[in-house]
Amino acid sequence: VTPEQDFVLKTIESRDVHFVRFWFTDVLGNMKSFAVVPGELESAFDDGMGFDASCIEGFSERRESDMLAFPDPSTFQVLPWRPTSNAVARMICNIRTPEGKPYEGDSRQVLKSMVRKASEAGYSFIVGPELEYFYFKDAEGTEVLDRGSYFDLTSLDSASDLRRDTVLTLEKMGIPVEYSHHEKGPSQHEIDLRYADALSMADAVMTYKQVVKEIAMKHGVYASLMPKPLAGAPGSGMHVHQSLMDRAGNNVFFDESDPSGYNLSATAKAYIAGLLKYAPEFTLVTNQYVNSYKRLQPGGEAPTCISWGARNRSTLVRIPGYRPRSESACRVELRSPDPAANPYLAFAVMLAAGLAGIEEGLELMAPADEAAPLGCSRREHRERGVTPLPESLGEAVELFAQSSLMRETLGEHIHDYLVRAKRAEWDAYQAVVTPWELERNLAVL
Ligand code: GLN
Ligand code: MG
Ligand code: MG
Ligand code: MG
Repeated sequence: VTPEQDFVLKTIESRDVHFVRFWFTDVLGNMKSFAVVPGELESAFDDGMGFDASCIEGFSERRESDMLAFPDPSTFQVLPWRPTSNAVARMICNIRTPEGKPYEGDSRQVLKSMVRKASEAGYSFIVGPELEYFYFKDAEGTEVLDRGSYFDLTSLDSASDLRRDTVLTLEKMGIPVEYSHHEKGPSQHEIDLRYADALSMADAVMTYKQVVKEIAMKHGVYASLMPKPLAGAPGSGMHVHQSLMDRAGNNVFFDESDPSGYNLSATAKAYIAGLLKYAPEFTLVTNQYVNSYKRLQPGGEAPTCISWGARNRSTLVRIPGYRPRSESACRVELRSPDPAANPYLAFAVMLAAGLAGIEEGLELMAPADEAAPLGCSRREHRERGVTPLPESLGEAVELFAQSSLMRETLGEHIHDYLVRAKRAEWDAYQAVVTPWELERNLAVL
């Protein structure tokens, strides 16, 4: 028994834990879980716990339906929204095959190996995501709780108690929160997590989604991380602030002598160039639903084209706090991802794109503060020589299918699965006759 495992076993006794939930994530980013009694833990640490994986999205191949879940003791947390006697705890798991090999359908493993690759190149990957979401009366519709807007501190923001309860619960689970506020849309909110290394952050994002939903349910309402639930309001994004640190813990993105005035190092510029070059290929991963593309439309603060800059919030990559004064604040913000993405895969593909930019020594294009005005359509972008982001899931999946960087980063198993599943989703959507068409056409055609 390692010291970490020993700590888990002792805490289970002292906190009266009766159920230990094993958490893992399917390829689409849905949390999966089963409960184990404490007596099984010691052997689970050594030999894993078997489960039938044939019904897990992206795991399912008949020949590999038996899998093993190995709990990671460093992720042990008692669930604060469950009773304190006969309490419930959770651990996040790595999935292995019966032969003991890391399972290639396990997205946590994908991020782990990408992080390892970065570390071999001398970098650790630090991310800070900003997740937005909506509260609705229930899951049946989109009735909002309030008519508040950005930063409102009035009775219009009736959800501030909900947000407070959510933040406190996250902190009880060891997830520090940096910032929380009402967002622009009615009943839309944002809670930003304090930056951390990518693997702990992906675990934290999975936990965050769970906590936001659990606390909403406790208060009798429904929280949704759907990218664009209301046609007339902004969508929900998951902007990801990111930087690389060297082995000595210095931020390699910062260079005060940068002649361009952005205080970005040559490494940072090549990293951004990598994000921009590979964005068309990785968008399927950061924006994986038909609905994701309803958010990536002109006129709002979601990006529509391949561009970077400091002020313009419709650029794909933004340099926050133009000319960051301090090394630790220096980072780049990727604005396309949405909170319905699988955070393990999303962080892995961003890192892969940025590192490829560094390896290939890519040149960074000019900043697009003027070239990509807010509200520019994709056609107008093309006319200005600016590449638009994929316009639909259908377009994104074909760009992803062709991508050797994505195939290499995610592995054949996940790449093949996503191409298959997302083509099927797009085809199914294309076959739907929408109320919009009926309303426009039925009475006149
Ligand atoms: N909701 C916007 C998006 O879809 C972002 C708004 C903001 O945080 N400034 O990305
Ligand atoms: Mg924000
Ligand atoms: Mg926001
Ligand atoms: Mg932001």
